[in-house]
Amino acid sequence: MADKKYTFQEFTQDIEQYESRYRQDINLKSYFGFPLSPILESETQLSSLQKSIAYFSMEYGLAPSIYNSFSLSQPMNDKNQFFKHEVFSNYWLCDYLFKVEIDKMLDIPIYGGGLGVLAGDTMKSVADLGCPVVGIGVLWNKGYFKQKFWYKRGQVPDELEWDPWAYPGLVPLKKIVTIDTQQGPLHLRLWKYYVYSFDKTKAIPLILLDSNLEENQDRSGREDGKLPFRRLTDQLYRSDDVLWKIFQRLILGVGGMKALKALGYHVDCYHLNEGHAAFAILEKYINLEDKSQMNSYRDKFVFTCHTPVAAGHDRFEIKDINKILKPEYVEAAQIFGKESPHAHQINLTYMSLNNCSRVNAVAAKHGEVMRLQFPQYAQKIGSITNGVHTHTWTSQSFQNLFDKYSKAFGDWRAHPENLKEIMTLSSNSKFRADIFEAHQVNKRNLMNILNRWRVSEDIFTIGWARRIAGYKRPALIFHNVERIIQLAQKYGQLQIILAGKAHPNDNIGAAHIDEILDHIDQLNPYKDLVRVLILENYDTFFGKLLTNSVDVWLNNPLPPFEASGTSGMKAIHNGVLQLSTLDGWVVEAADKDIGWIFGYEHHGSEIGDERNLRLDEDSKALYDRLEEVVGLYYQTLSQGKVNVDSPWIDKMIHCVAQSAFFNTQRMVEEYREKMWQLK
Ligand SMILES: *Cc1c(COP(=O)(O)O)cnc(C)c1O
Repeated sequence: MADKKYTFQEFTQDIEQYESRYRQDINLKSYFGFPLSPILESETQLSSLQKSIAYFSMEYGLAPSIYNSFSLSQPMNDKNQFFKHEVFSNYWLCDYLFKVEIDKMLDIPIYGGGLGVLAGDTMKSVADLGCPVVGIGVLWNKGYFKQKFWYKRGQVPDELEWDPWAYPGLVPLKKIVTIDTQQGPLHLRLWKYYVYSFDKTKAIPLILLDSNLEENQDRSGREDGKLPFRRLTDQLYRSDDVLWKIFQRLILGVGGMKALKALGYHVDCYHLNEGHAAFAILEKYINLEDKSQMNSYRDKFVFTCHTPVAAGHDRFEIKDINKILKPEYVEAAQIFGKESPHAHQINLTYMSLNNCSRVNAVAAKHGEVMRLQFPQYAQKIGSITNGVHTHTWTSQSFQNLFDKYSKAFGDWRAHPENLKEIMTLSSNSKFRADIFEAHQVNKRNLMNILNRWRVSEDIFTIGWARRIAGYKRPALIFHNVERIIQLAQKYGQLQIILAGKAHPNDNIGAAHIDEILDHIDQLNPYKDLVRVLILENYDTFFGKLLTNSVDVWLNNPLPPFEASGTSGMKAIHNGVLQLSTLDGWVVEAADKDIGWIFGYEHHGSEIGDERNLRLDEDSKALYDRLEEVVGLYYQTLSQGKVNVDSPWIDKMIHCVAQSAFFNTQRMVEEYREKMWQLK
């Protein structure tokens, strides 16, 4: 058994409708255009008796439109192609007349934001490093949601349609797992997607659970309170119905454990990426013949917590859990998941903290905050700072730059830590001119895409794009529109480019979007001084485009509520300067001269109130700092001429040097050692 090789025949026999649908794309040599042998090797390794790891995450942002895109023998189904984006700007005429059109593949829509992008980047670095890991997630049949801005109506969420049966790299398996619930048996199809290493010599499987199959009921019985099982895996983070939320967590945690068993993976360590997957612990416990063994099983569970924000921690009333989970699960949930002995709720964060032997926060500062929030667990809470996947987020022009100076950077693709060698080039004026030009190439690319809005590569451009959430203060830069106008009058024109989705049920987030749209409107008379654009449907494609092309990346969360943040890490890989509050990952790079820090700082032993947004003080601090930033920018680039001695270029170099640390390869190496204990 231990050395049994997984064969091509077994692989294709496991795939549903292989003969009719996938024969063209999967053969002895090729898997959707990639070499097939890494798949067979990885499956052989994972089902042999050695130690392997299962990584559970509600979402994965794999971004195949920008990295490792599989190919199809058939033309791509229209549904899996993306899209026209509308733009809302203070240059009204253009908004009516034009859309941004990009002919690209739809990214597999099983993510909502940063947590998913991190999980996707983690899987890619795991593949790069050849770690024995299998990912567990959910196949969201309608994705997260499609965003539209309606003039004077703000964000209007729309359903996304895609076709998993024709998506390159994704295959349905014949195996189905079943969870017994209080509403009857819930059947789940298993899908596989493979994540390849950057050099395509290694691959790891990602298993996705899907309730959209005929065996499940499709109607919702309003009378008996039954949910339509077929639609449970429609929409990621659907939150209008608490039972729906519990089902989604049951599918990930319990369904995921059953899938691992059905597929014969020998898992030795279960990594819960957020508390969403905590029901996996119950499944382990229920299946123990001798319950007293649970203590030793705790050593096999590890937990990464991603947010200090209260709404990010799942809590469910025991009476609601009772409507879905079988009694033995509810009983176990009460043993393991209560905040206090008399609580009426189960808290998935506590369930994870109670039952995982190793726990990590996602940046050093977040570790401090987490130990304040959960003092009784302080001993086991460490921190492993997030990263981004270097190969995914480094633009072509910066890759070319690193290759051109390969004497300094060596094999930076296999060793992203080599990027710190950029410091040896800091006084090389040819290099300084080249790095600025590499940035201009990216900026020109963005300006070309947006050229209808008459934006220019010679104008100072600031970017802000992320999930719209209160503590991230999306409208901070518009708090005093007068100051923006004055700034432009004093130093030169400005361009501000924004993007971001608010969760469809988040009223505060929606209000922030309305506020931004209003301010953009208000700036219409000043469009020749300040050009503001907000792009619809922020996704990983735009994430890459924006983070590598603007001059300054704005990051203004209210400390200490941004656990890490990762978009700025994408930016530093491309020499884009940071203008940031002191929070998340930035705390660890604050003394490295990668840009500018401003605003409220969090110190001390109280976490504070996330609703006290400090907009007046912090917007003032932001504008004061911007005076410096814009001033220096126009000393660096004026009338098309670059001053290569400018301190701006030193900051660009320091940014790239820091990306030697803020990448998922370094992060996964830390997971491997501290969490999975593989070395
Ligand atoms: C990187 C990324 C994020 C995360 O950004 P933060 O700075 O961590 O908020 C969210 N959404 C998309 C599409 C991304 O690419």
